[in-house]
Amino acid sequence: MKKVLVLEDEANIRSFVVINLKRAGYEAVEAETGEEALEQLRKNPDIKVALLDVMLPDIDGFEVCRRIRATDTKIGVIMLTARTQEMDKVTGLMTGADDYVTKPFSPAELTARIDALYRRTGGEAPQTESGEIRQPPFLLNTRNRTLEKSGQRVKLTQVEYSIMKLFMNNPGKALSREEILDAVWGRDYFGEVKIVDVNIRRLRIKIEDEPQNPAYITTVWGYGYKWGCS
Ligand code: CA
Repeated sequence: MKKVLVLEDEANIRSFVVINLKRAGYEAVEAETGEEALEQLRKNPDIKVALLDVMLPDIDGFEVCRRIRATDTKIGVIMLTARTQEMDKVTGLMTGADDYVTKPFSPAELTARIDALYRRTGGEAPQTESGEIRQPPFLLNTRNRTLEKSGQRVKLTQVEYSIMKLFMNNPGKALSREEILDAVWGRDYFGEVKIVDVNIRRLRIKIEDEPQNPAYITTVWGYGYKWGCS
């Protein structure tokens, strides 16, 4: 059974989400508070995707996300944000969320996002490929989905890993933001292309020597990005 954590303090929204997840073939593990969500994740290590509401009575959803990411880079995280939280969206993504859904959302939109993230986090796809992509100082291990820079492990989220793999498979090629969005988030993704920029900004902080003056992921103005390592 594909398990999804649903953290939402408002009972009516939570049950709306849970009903729709069940309909889409997921098992929902419910939590009302941030602490309860962290507890449920400890009890259910097979949860592959977590839906986190931002406004909660105890710790907020971003803090929950930070605490999850402190120990788990693999789980997919979707933030549930309100329309007024424009800036919060970006902050949420910077702390390690993979995606966000703005309230009010349709059940179809929400399950499409979860499906896409679930596929990316390797929930069901068998890992058939094996091997390494070596482009000094980087080494991408496609079997255990890890990245090393100069022999040091760089902790990546699944989305960041997918972007790195796309880049390393296309050295020197300018990739449009739409191309990156399609390849990493999937063609059925509903969201905005801005999510690509947010993730790349975060990736640069992790892999570049000088994130403000990137040498590996260079910007192709008005178009997208290019992997400059060979
Ligand atoms: Ca709430």
